[in-house]
Amino acid sequence: MSANKRPLLFKNGIVLTMDNAHTLHQKGDVLIIDGLIKEVGPNVAAPADAEVIDASGGIIMPGMIDTHRHMWQTAMRGYGADWTLSQYFVWYYLSHGKSFRPQDIYAGNLLAAVEAIDAGVTTCVDWSHGLQTIEHADAAVDALEAVPGRFVLAYGNIQAGPWEWSAKPEFKDFIKRRIDGKGDMLGFQMAFDVPGDPAFPEKAAFEVARELGVGVTTHAGVWGATNDDGIRLMYENGFMNDNTVYVHAATLSDDSYNRIAATGGNASVSTESEQSAGQGYPPTWKLRQHGVEVSLSMDTSVWWSGDLFSAMRTTVGADRSREHLEAHAKKETVSALHMRCEEAVDWATRGGSRALKMDSKIGSLEVGKRGDVVLVKNDDSPVMFPILNPYGHIVMQAQRGDVHTVVIDGKIVKKDHKLVDSKLAAAKKAVSETVEYLQSTMGKETWDAGMHPEIPDTKLNENPYTYTTFDSASADWKKK
Ligand SMILES: [Zn+2]
Repeated sequence: MSANKRPLLFKNGIVLTMDNAHTLHQKGDVLIIDGLIKEVGPNVAAPADAEVIDASGGIIMPGMIDTHRHMWQTAMRGYGADWTLSQYFVWYYLSHGKSFRPQDIYAGNLLAAVEAIDAGVTTCVDWSHGLQTIEHADAAVDALEAVPGRFVLAYGNIQAGPWEWSAKPEFKDFIKRRIDGKGDMLGFQMAFDVPGDPAFPEKAAFEVARELGVGVTTHAGVWGATNDDGIRLMYENGFMNDNTVYVHAATLSDDSYNRIAATGGNASVSTESEQSAGQGYPPTWKLRQHGVEVSLSMDTSVWWSGDLFSAMRTTVGADRSREHLEAHAKKETVSALHMRCEEAVDWATRGGSRALKMDSKIGSLEVGKRGDVVLVKNDDSPVMFPILNPYGHIVMQAQRGDVHTVVIDGKIVKKDHKLVDSKLAAAKKAVSETVEYLQSTMGKETWDAGMHPEIPDTKLNENPYTYTTFDSASADWKKK
């Protein structure tokens, strides 16, 4: 993949640079040459051979960064929309997740990768915990390399202990073969959880990460799965550092948040996930009290959509909801909100670049950074006018369909709302084969049952105000 040969100039958009000062240009330009941002600001002169993209009526922002997405699971998009975390665990960990073959990992990753760049997510961490064999890992990378996005393979395997898979010689060989030398386009993390076994068997895996000089990403503070014990073990053994990402970080004590903050870790908040799966309340209101850095993620398309507009919107909503409820509990009223849309945009861009230790390369529109740029513009949509509060507009108004142009590493991958050289057809074909395979190995009954968990009975309260015979608890569709 190479950058556009001609210079690229975004012209006359509202520019959210997301630099440290959050400099905003009401009418600005962004010039990219040879993959790098060369100039940002008003009235940038177009080089003679430049390709000019008219950004008027739109918002130019840095490419968004997702720090935790189980891309392989996109092969079953939407299947678990009504799941809880326990149903997810049973499905992926204990039963059917094991049936994924390397080509199924490829299929899910390919569709997820296309989806990411289409939605303006220019960097995506593939939290890939279905890598049961090296062939699965090769398939994951094959898919990530087939799509012109920036990815980080977070290598994991839920079917074995991290101390087991990370000790195998083929694991290190894989890194040599597939990751080394790929530069900024394909990063690497190790992905595993620390459930709190006092013997701390994960120690060996942390040592491998340290030896390789790679970051660790771990589901931490997940109700019923990981808790303060995991954080304590990591801390006492010296494995908490500024290259560690704590996914969810939802149900932890103040002490654990302090440890994360003091060691420079980053919390990857997946609000849509925490709200419906049950890891704990989306923790941004807590993280703020402890000064923990935040990035955003959407977790898995088995439940949720893979776009960070949704992540920003739900995160702001959850934070404000909590703030109001905390105040109401004290008979108080919130008169000014802590959580601002501007901060959510920061988390979706800079937060990600900081979490991935790539902040000198991506995350903002600044001279010298890589050309990862998103133009949010949709002249046909009433929702994109008027743009009075650009940060608020990105968070509360805009959506993935408004992503007009996406440039990654200086290369146009989406233009005028259309992907360039799209791999979507190939991804659909691969995913269709995976779905067919899973359905046939599982049988229709198991497949259907997995998708529709039974609804527990609702206990009806005594209601003296009865003037209709309609009984909502036993509505027909609920009995299906
Ligand atoms: Zn996850």
